[in-house]
Amino acid sequence: MRYYSFSSYLRNKFNCRVHRLSLNAGFTCPNRDGTLSSEGCIYCNEKGFSRFAGQALPLEEQIESSIRFAGKRYGAQRFIAYFQNATNTYASVDKLRETYDVIKGFPAIAGLFISTRPDCIDDEKLDLIASYTGDYEVWVEYGLQTVHDRTLTLLNRKHNFAQTVDAINRTAAKNIKAGVHVILGLPGESAADMLETAGAIAALPVSGVKFHVLHVLKDTPLENMFKAGRIKLLDMAEYIDIICRFLEHLRDDQVVLRLVSDARSGFLAAPEWQKDKHKVIRAIEMRLEKLDTFQGKACKAVQRI
Ligand code: SF4
Repeated sequence: MRYYSFSSYLRNKFNCRVHRLSLNAGFTCPNRDGTLSSEGCIYCNEKGFSRFAGQALPLEEQIESSIRFAGKRYGAQRFIAYFQNATNTYASVDKLRETYDVIKGFPAIAGLFISTRPDCIDDEKLDLIASYTGDYEVWVEYGLQTVHDRTLTLLNRKHNFAQTVDAINRTAAKNIKAGVHVILGLPGESAADMLETAGAIAALPVSGVKFHVLHVLKDTPLENMFKAGRIKLLDMAEYIDIICRFLEHLRDDQVVLRLVSDARSGFLAAPEWQKDKHKVIRAIEMRLEKLDTFQGKACKAVQRI
């Protein structure tokens, strides 16, 4: 394997089929509820996140139904509870404990993954999250997206890169694995800008990276920009080229949590090619093979976790 895939990581760790369950715990987001803004990030359509987006099913029911589904469909034996929708640390510590504790009722759950914003974490919340590391594989995933503050402003993220660095360092200091989400093809970013993001991630105590291609979801400010011809999306060949180069600049111990993002069916406006995720993954693997290159080849960072 020319990159450190999440499936190899899980296989080495659990020695069985592990599946991630996408959960909606009903959290909101400070970039939606008026605290930072009411508009949200320009690419965000809250309804487009996951299987349970928009539904208010109790967590227990979501977990039961997902375990049943993934057990039958993929033969999965162990599961990761992935708190995915909105900002999953945006509540009091007591509320977070009550929410995460639901996984204790499901012995097949082996992991706790929490997706959040870098400005919605503090040491008290991290101490709570760290308390699960004895029994579970625990990760906090931060929406880093890019290291360039000018792009974060354009995206209406309402946080800067320095806040993400602080969150990652605090997380790693508590012995919790920090993952980051990165978007390739952001407006105004050149290949050199994206590789700068790769270099910065390699130099941080980041355990894994989840890649997204900039895609346009329906009913978002980004869709208006796209329709007005104000942004250009990467085509598949451009995405494959840049992600292979990005991988070269990461450390070889950083897990690739995902090579290309999913968009919930019915929500994607563009690009069409993203719908065939398996084709994209195969094409990335073939390109790495053809170039005889691999993750970490161009990495200058020395930090290992
Ligand atoms: S931080 Fe996440 S949930 Fe909040 S608006 Fe942005 S993408 Fe949406």
